[in-house]
Amino acid sequence: MNSPITPRLPGIRFVHSPGPTHVPDEVMHAMQRPMTDLADPRVAALVAACEKGMKSLLKSPQSDIFFYASNGHGVWEAAAANLASDQHSLLIAGSGHFSDQWALQTEALGLSVLRTPHTAGHRIDTQAICKALKEDTEHRISAVMVVHTDTASGITSDLMAIRQVMDQCKHPALYVVDVVASLGAAPFDMDALGVDVCLGSSQKGLMMPPGLGFVAVNAKAFAWSQAHAKPRFYWSWLERKTNTQSEKFCGTPPLAHLAGLEVSLGLLQAEGLDAVFARHQRLGGAVRAAVTAWSSANSLKLHCLDPEGFSASVTAIEVALGIDPEALRVVAREKFQVAMAGGLGPLAGRVFRIGHLGDMNEPMILGALAGIEAAMTVQKVPYGPNGMAAAIAYLAQHTP
Ligand SMILES: *Cc1c(COP(=O)(O)O)cnc(C)c1O
Repeated sequence: MNSPITPRLPGIRFVHSPGPTHVPDEVMHAMQRPMTDLADPRVAALVAACEKGMKSLLKSPQSDIFFYASNGHGVWEAAAANLASDQHSLLIAGSGHFSDQWALQTEALGLSVLRTPHTAGHRIDTQAICKALKEDTEHRISAVMVVHTDTASGITSDLMAIRQVMDQCKHPALYVVDVVASLGAAPFDMDALGVDVCLGSSQKGLMMPPGLGFVAVNAKAFAWSQAHAKPRFYWSWLERKTNTQSEKFCGTPPLAHLAGLEVSLGLLQAEGLDAVFARHQRLGGAVRAAVTAWSSANSLKLHCLDPEGFSASVTAIEVALGIDPEALRVVAREKFQVAMAGGLGPLAGRVFRIGHLGDMNEPMILGALAGIEAAMTVQKVPYGPNGMAAAIAYLAQHTP
């Protein structure tokens, strides 16, 4: 009979998908805390600490934080349910596979969705947003919805430029931002950007297992929702705006995840957010340095064509025709213990992706790059020389 437990592989397996990411031991240990009854004051204190920590991370002291026991798709629905109106439309800015999926999911709820076009390899087209807002003379568009880092393309868009376009058009739409892949990796200042709603989940830059989502809502967005949104219950921000723990979560709170989040937020603050963001820049830079060297054999290239859009979280690498990125992933994972991500949507079978976000350091990224290079050697993927040397040189030059 087969044992259900496969033999343990020696050493550490490297997780370089852009979510789930590596979870620090401190977070895992916190999640193993015993359960308590919901009236225990420790529950309220834990929830309050998580809310305070999120407001501080998002730089939005006055926003409400609503937690859901869900993944990122769940908080997409949470936002949509509270912004749903038959009289209005939602404008989803094209950024890649994640904006496509967000639009499909929102449309499936029966809501009217407008999209702006997206050009592969580039950031969000702010002029297309401007055009859509200018054409909307009756102000039927109630929200502009933007993915900060489109994880499928490894491209981070300019949130301030989008805010400025909305202001120039004097359009009253709410500004809704998906920070699932960027929070804790790239700077994000909710209030300074004039973002009204943002949403994210636990398993990426927040360094936790999947399963906890959040939505942050400012007073303007909350008021809009109360005035216009269709009936809702489980996702309702109003139902959750209370001090009763079971109402705040529409049932039992995800206690283990909250205990983990309190610790992960503490780790980010202890390192210092500027240092966290600089570390992500540095590790991403090392990955791109290696990929650039590998690219000289003309079989690989960075998918992102606009250096300003390079993501601090994930790098998507296009492969030439005839190279199978899925086979490469299998060899990297099974023979060299490096788990990468594949292509999604239109990029399926055309890219592989290296995640460099979360609880990550220099030797982890060098180990991952070396494992990937070894996998390319096994798979006979042609690559240019000195990729590892380029990554090392980059790190040596940029280490504080
Ligand atoms: C991962 C991701 C999601 C979806 O999150 P799940 O937890 O997988 O449902 C949404 N948006 C972005 C930008 C993501 O990276």
